[in-house]
Amino acid sequence: MQKITLIPGDGIGPAIVDAAVRVIEAAGVKVEWDKQLAGMAAVDACNNPLPDATLASIRANRLCLKGPLTTPVGGGYRSVNVTLRQEFKLYANVRPAISFEGTDTAFSNVNLVTVRENTEGLYAGIEHFITEDGYKIAAESVAVVTRKGCERIVEYAFDYAKRTGRKKVTLVHKANILKCTSGLFLEIGREIAPRYPDIEFNDVIVDACAMKLVMNPGAFDVMVTTNLFGDIISDLASGLIGGLGLTAGANIGADAAIFEAVHGSAPDIAHMGIANPIAMIMAGVMMLEHMGELDAARKIEQAVRDVVREGTHVTPDLKPGSAVGTQAMADELVRRVSA
Ligand code: NAD
Repeated sequence: MQKITLIPGDGIGPAIVDAAVRVIEAAGVKVEWDKQLAGMAAVDACNNPLPDATLASIRANRLCLKGPLTTPVGGGYRSVNVTLRQEFKLYANVRPAISFEGTDTAFSNVNLVTVRENTEGLYAGIEHFITEDGYKIAAESVAVVTRKGCERIVEYAFDYAKRTGRKKVTLVHKANILKCTSGLFLEIGREIAPRYPDIEFNDVIVDACAMKLVMNPGAFDVMVTTNLFGDIISDLASGLIGGLGLTAGANIGADAAIFEAVHGSAPDIAHMGIANPIAMIMAGVMMLEHMGELDAARKIEQAVRDVVREGTHVTPDLKPGSAVGTQAMADELVRRVSA
């Protein structure tokens, strides 16, 4: 039986993670959940937002379904998400944005995936102030882009496209201005693309990409880009399909893969029982795809899409005034996937 590290997380996390677990089990997938703490729940329990036991569990199981974590403010804690990325070399952040019928959005034909390099670029964390007499007169940040990092993310994007039947990879860059960092990324993209003759390849400058995405998102299929651009472009793409409550992401690495909702712990609605569990359930779908449990993944995704389209058993963020809560929505999904 597959053992998976399960992190319920903070705020709305435990409720939506519970919903995801119930739906995955209802689809007939046999999983042994290895429940571990992280975030504020871990700070409260052992004064450490990322206990060694949690790291050891992910290291052993290599798969993790993670609820959103509240980032402790102050106290000198490192971001748990950044630590996990570094610890498990989670170099690829994969975020599909596929329109949900029944949602009130400008476009109904969005069907794209952002593949973001997750460990390098401007987020390498190499920055400092330059001070004069204790007064900050400048700040400098160094973007690190390595040949190895570019090759593995571009190859990941092409392999992903091939594996999932997608037809085109668009490399998003700013090589006209950032001639070294973005230039190297583009150069390596162009080197690798001919190895995948069945996949169309093009490139676009990031600012033009933003405009094209909000004018004609149907023109995009798989987008591969560096860390900062990917952070922004993938949120833009999530907005195109109705926001964070519907979007999931996978963090794929050499040593482990961690699946999560894109949104945070939503402290404003924590314990109200109204959190939308879909993003967390879609994170579960991505995990099942990664595990090769394709029938269960399709069954769950279909049930989610049907429920959203019908609009009867959905939480108030999707239908204002709805009295359906997290558990009732999960109950309906469990009923459908186990039918
Ligand atoms: P958030 O995503 O938690 O909430 C933003 C808004 O969206 C809120 O109004 C919230 O109620 C709503 N929302 C979010 N998820 C929802 C859902 N499933 N159903 C219905 N409504 C939902 O962002 P925030 O308020 O900026 O952050 C809260 C905490 O979460 C912070 O501590 C932040 O650092 C953390 N965070 C964690 C992650 C993660 O662990 N991956 C990601 C983002 C933010």
